[in-house]
Amino acid sequence: MGGFLSFFKRKSRIRVLLLGLDSAGKTTILYHLKHGKATNTVPTIGFNVETIKYKKIEMNIWDVGGQDRLRPLWRHYYSGTSGVVFVIDSSDKSRMDKARDELHLLMHEEELERACVLALANKQDLPGACSPEEVSELMEMDQISHLHQTLPAVAKTGEGINEAMDWLMANMKAF
Ligand code: GDP
Ligand code: MG
Repeated sequence: MGGFLSFFKRKSRIRVLLLGLDSAGKTTILYHLKHGKATNTVPTIGFNVETIKYKKIEMNIWDVGGQDRLRPLWRHYYSGTSGVVFVIDSSDKSRMDKARDELHLLMHEEELERACVLALANKQDLPGACSPEEVSELMEMDQISHLHQTLPAVAKTGEGINEAMDWLMANMKAF
């Protein structure tokens, strides 16, 4: 926590990246954090950035579009990132491998070396959704060397979002 607080003194804002395949629920999470309620989302073109205040800490949340053609742009946002939230549609079993590959590629980026990563097993409300434990296994989280965690969420209702933010806040490090 000391490291985190000294980081806060040096920099007023913390960068958190919100990533994941398209339609995983990123924009829904962002708007939930910003307005405290769900909003109808449109597919993100480029990115949305919001500054939110969570428990007195200001965070820049970068919601970077998940469409294939935009994914090479992700790396423009890596520098200075303390935390990564990788959102997964837990009901989309056909794309779990793709999500896993993206996450692992991402976490091999040098600029994200010191970031912690939260795999958010979203859409837990949908029938047949994988449990967080199953998502963790399918995503091969044990192969990730960064500080990591997998937590459940229903972005549509906001369930699990505060817990996710609390985990990030407790685990983001100064650098
Ligand atoms: P993004 O492409 O990752 O930004 O995904 P969006 O936030 O735009 O969400 C894609 C779709 O999934 C939208 O229709 C959302 O309403 C829906 N969605 C997001 N989170 C949930 C959830 O937890 N449960 C359900 N059932 N639908 C969700
Ligand atoms: Mg979006």
